[in-house]
Amino acid sequence: MANTDFSKISSSLPTLRHFQPHGTTGIHAYYDGRTCPWHSSNWYDETLALGVATYSIVSGDSALLFDAGLTPAHAEYMLTHVRSLGAVHITTVYSHYHSDHIAGASALQETRIIAHARTKEKLAHSAEELRNPGPDDGPSIDVVLPAETYEERMTLRIGSVQVELLNFEIHTQDSTALFLPAEGLLFAGDMLEDTVTYVAEPEHLGTHLRELERLAGVPVKRILPAHGCPRRIEEGGFGKEFIEATGRYLRKLDEPVEEPGAWTRKVRDVVREDLEGGVLVFCEAYEGVHEENVEALKEIREESKGSSPTDVL
Ligand SMILES: [Zn+2]
Repeated sequence: MANTDFSKISSSLPTLRHFQPHGTTGIHAYYDGRTCPWHSSNWYDETLALGVATYSIVSGDSALLFDAGLTPAHAEYMLTHVRSLGAVHITTVYSHYHSDHIAGASALQETRIIAHARTKEKLAHSAEELRNPGPDDGPSIDVVLPAETYEERMTLRIGSVQVELLNFEIHTQDSTALFLPAEGLLFAGDMLEDTVTYVAEPEHLGTHLRELERLAGVPVKRILPAHGCPRRIEEGGFGKEFIEATGRYLRKLDEPVEEPGAWTRKVRDVVREDLEGGVLVFCEAYEGVHEENVEALKEIREESKGSSPTDVL
């Protein structure tokens, strides 16, 4: 790598931070966002408010990129970085189909791209629309479909590191987590978010709760989410109780009463105990996410009225 190339990419990404989470080896986080207040608009602006991390796992002459970055420039930065560390065999894994996780992929076409089979289906279905967005839909995305897919789990070896790709139906049906058994390290994608999860598929909330219990059965020691407090990620990530805290929030959001108390409270009150206990970290932008979650729950309950109960608790 020519240093001038790296400087040029870096200067085009003035708010990108790059660090190694404490206590990890060969793991790098590339973090952007939490640079502006929340305003509900499009995926790009919302992501800058929430902040997003992508990760690399580098070992020997191999590297894995977990998520393709917010823009091709972010992806190019990661690729240039892992190459500078000696990586020649480079794999990219998409955590799920949401735009903020796949938008940079046009810069990663030389890598081996893997995702869940449903991620490929979703992206194939929406590729044209993502390439030609409406005026308020955020930047155009040059969608790159994964060359390889898996269904339940897949094992990769990145240099000397064993990496498990695990599908859990949390946040979205196609979600992939990476698990490093030797370290007990979980890369959660959007299954777990700090401050609270984004309810993208409210019709599957019951499944998400059951799947969170299954996730809690994985021997996890530390968790690195896509959207989380950068300082906590730099300090080594979140504890396993992050999984239970996410379930607690969802159960409050979908409390089996006509109007759950969480619907009229600020998120900082809804998850106060977990914030005070240090399990979660407060980020103001999640007040906006919580408001959207409440609206999503209201809509799904309205729709399910009169129809036979399916997946709604
Ligand atoms: Zn997502």
